Amino acid sequence: MRTPYYLIDKSRLLPNLEKIAWLRENSGAKSLLALKCFATWSVFDLMSDYMDGTTSSSLYEVRLGKEKFAGETHAYSVAYADHEIAEVLEHSDKIIFNSIGQLQKFADASQGHIRGLRVNPGVSTSEFDLADPARPFSRLGEHDPAEIAQVADQISGLMFHNNCENDDFDRFDEMLTLIEDRFGAVIAKMDWISLGGGIHFTGEGYPLDRLAARLKSFATTYGVQVYLEPGEAAITGAATLEVTVLDTMHNGKNLAIVDSSIEAHMLDLIIYREPAKIAPNTGDHEWMICGKSCLAGDIFGEFRFDAPLKAGDRLSFQDAAGYTMVKKNWFNGVKMPSIAIRELDGTVRLVRDFDYDDFAAALS
Ligand SMILES: *Cc1c(COP(=O)(O)O)cnc(C)c1O
Repeated sequence: MRTPYYLIDKSRLLPNLEKIAWLRENSGAKSLLALKCFATWSVFDLMSDYMDGTTSSSLYEVRLGKEKFAGETHAYSVAYADHEIAEVLEHSDKIIFNSIGQLQKFADASQGHIRGLRVNPGVSTSEFDLADPARPFSRLGEHDPAEIAQVADQISGLMFHNNCENDDFDRFDEMLTLIEDRFGAVIAKMDWISLGGGIHFTGEGYPLDRLAARLKSFATTYGVQVYLEPGEAAITGAATLEVTVLDTMHNGKNLAIVDSSIEAHMLDLIIYREPAKIAPNTGDHEWMICGKSCLAGDIFGEFRFDAPLKAGDRLSFQDAAGYTMVKKNWFNGVKMPSIAIRELDGTVRLVRDFDYDDFAAALS
């Protein structure tokens, strides 16, 4: 198969899904895949055996969830336009408004639909301002318990999303307690509560049993169905970006240019100024791996290898599923990576290829 391509490995996806299913079994919490993190629908059949549905951040995502992923479909968006609302409702089981203003604006249109409201508890675990829902002046959800209480009779659920790659159960527990202290009275009036995504509960060594117990007691205390909205936790480690070295140079450091671009194919890493990952990253030879776009800083990172790199060598970047495939773009006209799936029996299947026509069709 010709590089570059994203390779989704079902045998690496499965352990995450099994943990998600275990958590539902032991806590009662349902898990919905957050499509903004991962929307490669060719593996949705497998994922839907272990998860309860999808949640979304736009009309197109909610529609994709409805059409491609069995189970429940939650609609959420920071703001809906008038012309979107009918189609959003048609494709969703629940709609979660970001503000009381939007709830009221679409009160008639959404009459009879299950409705919820996003709440901003004002605390989070994000280490990046860019991704911090609790940043100062945040537009992400309503924050005043008194104002939320006034519209409680128009909704049956609330959504809190304030965790971000949080692998510390005690911190999660502490923030949930803050949420209970501040919003407990209105939570008790609801039928369902979504605690959002950002909990890294599929990670190595995460105390899943403690999380399950905490979620179960929360659900019992308030008489609510709990939902989680894992994105990264569902697909972490499940895909790689497969590339080939095209050329090598030396300019104070060993440079290898590959048939891909971090700006075009792993954009999230550039945004957060993080290097890509190569395993095992050991050996005596250090090389800077560079993209083939003409952006000077199109650099995947510096990695160690057992032997000097040369044109034709194959490399594999780890963790290419979350916030990666959804952000690929046509910068520099660099060929978009194909998408391949490694099935549980080891066979690899190409599910999508991109060519010049796709590039041309992306603009006009
Ligand atoms: C981004 C997002 C998620 C998924 O977050 P992860 O960190 O990928 O788990 C879930 N819910 C909402 C509302 C989000 O914005």
